[in-house]
Amino acid sequence: MILEKYSIGVGDRFVREGAAQLRALQMVEKAGATVVPVWNKSNREHVIIGTVPDSVRTEADAAVKTCGWKHSYYVDADHIGLATVDRFVASSNFFTIDVADFIGKPTSPENIDAFVSSMMGYIGKLSIPGIDRQLDVSKEFLRSVGEKYLYAIEQAGAVYRHIAAAKGVGNFVPEVSADETNAPQTPAELFFILAAVAREGIPIQTIAPKFTGSFLKGVDYVGSVNQFKQEFEDDLAVIKFAIERFSLPKNLKLSVHSGSDKFSLYPIIHRALKKFDAGIHLKTAGTTWLEEVIGLAAAGGEALQVAKEVYAASYDRYDELCKPYLTVIDIDRAALPTPKAVSGWTSEEFLQAIRHDQSCKNFDRNLRQLIHVGYKVAAEMGNRFTDLLDRHSEIIGQNVTDNIYRRHLVPLFLGSVD
Ligand SMILES: [Zn+2]
Repeated sequence: MILEKYSIGVGDRFVREGAAQLRALQMVEKAGATVVPVWNKSNREHVIIGTVPDSVRTEADAAVKTCGWKHSYYVDADHIGLATVDRFVASSNFFTIDVADFIGKPTSPENIDAFVSSMMGYIGKLSIPGIDRQLDVSKEFLRSVGEKYLYAIEQAGAVYRHIAAAKGVGNFVPEVSADETNAPQTPAELFFILAAVAREGIPIQTIAPKFTGSFLKGVDYVGSVNQFKQEFEDDLAVIKFAIERFSLPKNLKLSVHSGSDKFSLYPIIHRALKKFDAGIHLKTAGTTWLEEVIGLAAAGGEALQVAKEVYAASYDRYDELCKPYLTVIDIDRAALPTPKAVSGWTSEEFLQAIRHDQSCKNFDRNLRQLIHVGYKVAAEMGNRFTDLLDRHSEIIGQNVTDNIYRRHLVPLFLGSVD
């Protein structure tokens, strides 16, 4: 199973928008770029909403049938580890093995020594094609990479072998993710992390490093765009070189997590992919759920009322709802509108606040992030909420498709708005 050059991770909290998401991929294919879908849902989301991994497979199969999708598609067991992987094994063919919790934990001194001695040939000035400066590699640096990452990669190996024993080697796409950690990995670290992955025998197809800057949920990139550009291009060069040096799978590519809504980065990523003839996996995060709320608000009446209730309850339960997401949100709590104020809003006022249109002066990034984490409130509403999603599926679906196509796929893969 070989993942295609361009893929997009489409999350869908209430498993209703698969066909609407796929329509966006059919539109971009018509416009000239084939991008395959990977339906992802993390263990965290399943636990919060009360769904099971099989429901994502059912949704993906149904969407593919409805739309007549002719290419591959995948179901991602997102951010799993040994403790959580088992219930994903049957329905998934893509596994995001999350090692972030193990970064910095020590492996045995013998294993570190063996890693360092196997990499001694790289000590000195390392030239990587595509990077116009040399990287300094010392024995101390190799040792520091070993101390920081080797145990984490050994853990990834254990998870990989566990999945391979159940599904068979070659029957799934393995990703290793290290994004939900504090410090970004430098391009030099990435190179030796990939060396460790190869030594561990993981046929890795995508790797999700933590990039410089903040990838917050539901809003644009926060950080230096120029620094990101340099790092992203260096990472692409490193991956090309590592594939050749360590005999890693030829389709190995970067995976960008929390990649939705990062509008200021898409032109940079688009140009870099062209420059390096590289592929990418862009994982979206909750952007479809926000479009569901947008569709409800646009529908007006009781649907708008429910959108306001989701906001009001999220406001009241701020600490509880934000807690699982503290490293990936940045809300100015004092600047949030009160539920009382929001209760008086028209449909248009609600839409202006939540829609990710940064040129709109009423766009409210605090409200948008809070609603991003507020899906638990909607899940608790049960049928009252999902019946409204079904009743207004047309307007919601239009928003879902338009958001994925126009705001994400076009700038990333076509490079311009047609
Ligand atoms: Zn992630």
